[in-house]
Amino acid sequence: MIIVLMGPPGAGKGTQARHIVDKYNVTHLATGDMFREKIASGDDVGVKIKEMVESGRLVPDELTIQMIADRIEQPDCKNGFILDGFPRTVEQAEGLDMMLKEHGLFMDGALEIKVDDNALVDRISGRFSCSDCGEGYHDDFKPSAVSDICDCCGGEHKFVRRADDTAEKVKTRLGIYHEQTAPILPFYEQRNMLHTVDGMGSMEDVKINIFSVLDGLEDSNCDLHDSKEYGDVRCNYKK
Ligand code: ADP
Ligand code: ADP
Ligand code: ZN
Repeated sequence: MIIVLMGPPGAGKGTQARHIVDKYNVTHLATGDMFREKIASGDDVGVKIKEMVESGRLVPDELTIQMIADRIEQPDCKNGFILDGFPRTVEQAEGLDMMLKEHGLFMDGALEIKVDDNALVDRISGRFSCSDCGEGYHDDFKPSAVSDICDCCGGEHKFVRRADDTAEKVKTRLGIYHEQTAPILPFYEQRNMLHTVDGMGSMEDVKINIFSVLDGLEDSNCDLHDSKEYGDVRCNYKK
């Protein structure tokens, strides 16, 4: 399964991606995580992008597209992958189309988690995560059971907050989302690939709604991929 997960910063993409990975056995490719790893490693690319990422601006398309093109060739992507935070511009969406075509692969759909802007500031300001296992938390909506201990891996004092998760930088990031990323939604809508899920409910409710969309896609896309519309091409799934 190849899915693009869309939604503004703080919508719950990372939270839901972890559930999707568990249920559908796909690899989670989060460009934000990949960039933060590069920054932490201090390599050339990391040094170049640090200021952009920490101030909430986008990394240039060419660098981002190439990073994903290299990543999807890794063996752990054979079973499928979920793209979280990519594409973020129309140019990236076109880049993704091209790389999938080159590999004879199909995107199963784009899943948009829709959340009101005013809820996003609260979600982002309270966000923290475990630096060991990546589990995401929230001061109010998902605190850890025991203070400073990760529910998931038991790590102590491993919680971290992102440099760009401040109220001021959220405004920059939201502005960029509406200006540069939201225009991708019609790009997928026109191809009947866009599935929108209400992200204002509880994490559990959002998960249930996402699973129901993805179960439906798994059932229907095989037939679509074998149809004339796609010509003589390989389906992602074994029948
Ligand atoms: P994104 O990856 O889209 O930026 P996250 O998954 O990191 O978003 O979620 C942002 C913050 O909001 C996290 O602290 C997370 O625990 C919290 N969160 C996620 N989904 C919900 C929800 N449905 N209701 C309340 N808080 C949520
Ligand atoms: P969020 O979870 O809040 O949506 P991400 O972790 O996806 O944020 O991204 C954090 C930052 O990493 C972005 O503000 C941007 O600087 C950079 N980034 C992530 N994905 C992309 C992308 N596809 N194109 C350009 N920049 C990106
Ligand atoms: Zn942990």
